[in-house]
Amino acid sequence: MAINLICFNSECKHYWEDCCKKNLQETQIVIGEDGMCKSFEKGVCDWYGESEKGSGADEI
Ligand code: SF4
Repeated sequence: MAINLICFNSECKHYWEDCCKKNLQETQIVIGEDGMCKSFEKGVCDWYGESEKGSGADEI
């Protein structure tokens, strides 16, 4: 069962709407002993591109 993990690191490619995409997909994330997320990868989540394509906003 996916847990809605809140994350505010919008510079991570797994960040989506204040949630972690990896967690929503039931994929493991790793938190280091320093409390920092070791699964961080700089970038933009590909789900944003998909939602823009399906919105129909550019079809008007
Ligand atoms: S991988 Fe880590 S830093 Fe990236 S969105 Fe998930 S919890 Fe946040």
